[in-house]
Amino acid sequence: MMRIAGFLDNSLVNGVGIRSVVFVSGCNHNCDGCHNKEMQDYNYGDEVEIDDVFERIKSNVPLISGVTFSGGEPFDSAKELAILADKVKSIGLNLWCYTGYTYEEILHSDDEAKIILLNKVDVLVDGKFDKNLTEDAPKYVGSSNQRIIDVEKSMYEKRVVEVIL
Ligand code: SF4
Repeated sequence: MMRIAGFLDNSLVNGVGIRSVVFVSGCNHNCDGCHNKEMQDYNYGDEVEIDDVFERIKSNVPLISGVTFSGGEPFDSAKELAILADKVKSIGLNLWCYTGYTYEEILHSDDEAKIILLNKVDVLVDGKFDKNLTEDAPKYVGSSNQRIIDVEKSMYEKRVVEVIL
């Protein structure tokens, strides 16, 4: 089971291509100007079966090219999302994940579940939202401090490699 705050069948603004989006409940980052304030509550939304979320995702194939985890804070539900991530990847979909943590915070976390989830993500959009840095924010990010990171390349090269769009 996992708690989700919302679901979009097909979105064009949460990563490259047409994507299904899973919004996870709960977030502690408390960014000033958060657009999803109600989703900060860990009790917001619905308790659902992970398999049911996956079935809903599958119902959008082949229209979608990938899935995006957003929130809320996906890495605070890392254990559940790692299970869903495996299912998503098993049918050839790519995986983006938005997080208020930085890549480095996740990579050096004491919480093994967070690191396991990070390894399953293709593209990580990291960092807290900063309402003072929205003007020059590139596509797919909320504020210009956030990075769009190629996780596999970053792990391989042991440095942050950003995606060139
Ligand atoms: S990380 Fe996202 S959901 Fe959490 S407070 Fe910041 S903007 Fe809101």
